[in-house]
Amino acid sequence: MDNITSRRDFIKNIALAFASAGLFSGLNLNIWGAAKKGKNTMQDDDNYFIQTVLGPIKPSQLGMTLIHEHILVDFIGADNFNKNRYNPDEVFEVMLPYLKEIRALGVTGFAECTPMYLARDAELMARLSKSANIHILTNTGMYKEPYLPKYAFEKTAEELAQMWIDEANNGIEGTTIKPGFIKIAVNPGNLIPIQQKIVRAAAITSKATGLTIACHTGHGVAAIETMDILEKEGVPLNKFIFVHADAESNVNYHIETAKRSAWVEYDSIGSGDANRHIQLIKTMLDKGYEDRLLLSQDAGWYNVGQPRGGNIRGFTYIVKEFMPLMEKSGISKETIEKLMITNPAMALRINNKKGNVGVNPKGKAKSTFGNIKLK
Ligand SMILES: [Zn+2]
Repeated sequence: MDNITSRRDFIKNIALAFASAGLFSGLNLNIWGAAKKGKNTMQDDDNYFIQTVLGPIKPSQLGMTLIHEHILVDFIGADNFNKNRYNPDEVFEVMLPYLKEIRALGVTGFAECTPMYLARDAELMARLSKSANIHILTNTGMYKEPYLPKYAFEKTAEELAQMWIDEANNGIEGTTIKPGFIKIAVNPGNLIPIQQKIVRAAAITSKATGLTIACHTGHGVAAIETMDILEKEGVPLNKFIFVHADAESNVNYHIETAKRSAWVEYDSIGSGDANRHIQLIKTMLDKGYEDRLLLSQDAGWYNVGQPRGGNIRGFTYIVKEFMPLMEKSGISKETIEKLMITNPAMALRINNKKGNVGVNPKGKAKSTFGNIKLK
């Protein structure tokens, strides 16, 4: 069988699996493997939820997921950023076809990783989610300079956390749309004080809300130091994602991260050397870390300031090209399912016992926990 035939067959099989699972008929449906067995097999599914821009779903409903992508980014910087710099209707019109394209390939989960002050737009994500019929997650948290507002330097970690916890409890910027994870960034190498504070604020927020922390860094030293701070603050490291881990050339940092129970995210798939990604994945699988790996493309996006968003990289590469490549390289279909379906849900899931827990500015936790109703 030549490559193209096997690839076509693979895609056809995926499409059939999804069709038989009823995935094309609506949002709140079971996933691939689980649905085939006629029951929900996601571990502890009833005890967790995933917070999408349209509300909570069960982890088993997330399905095949791209865990690190972007719809919209504005790199103007926090001092000059404002929402009048783009027309959300135009962004909607430009980006919707890209989401529909992956939805037709069976992708049902999509984490939008653009942080506040870089054009995070919760309302736009909700509109796109409805129209493309994809579960979209947005985020709370803050990036690094020059995308930090002045008040980030003045406020304490507890005060910043309180703002983010408030978004998780009540909604983002006057909406009722809640973040599904925390997105932060750290500088390369040893962490500078402002980024240490951002990490501590993320830790407080994660402990209060159960949200997972996705941390932009391509640097092993920074990732290790970030994990050290989180651990000291009492955050279980399975709530931490080493974003852009594939930018760190020393694989020992990937192994160390996985060994400490955190998530290793290879998210430049499709823009780097595919064989290198295959080798990285196989190395981690050989070491027994198939439960700690996340794959995505860091693709997109409507670039604010360029005509109709400039050059946009679509989101289809992993499903169309890379999944067949993984299978061809000897990675089993079960493992591919795990990497694309189970792991994203496990990484993003929130314990039902969390939620609506606030921390007052003096750092003392106050619980206002209410029952989270699952649809
Ligand atoms: Zn990104």
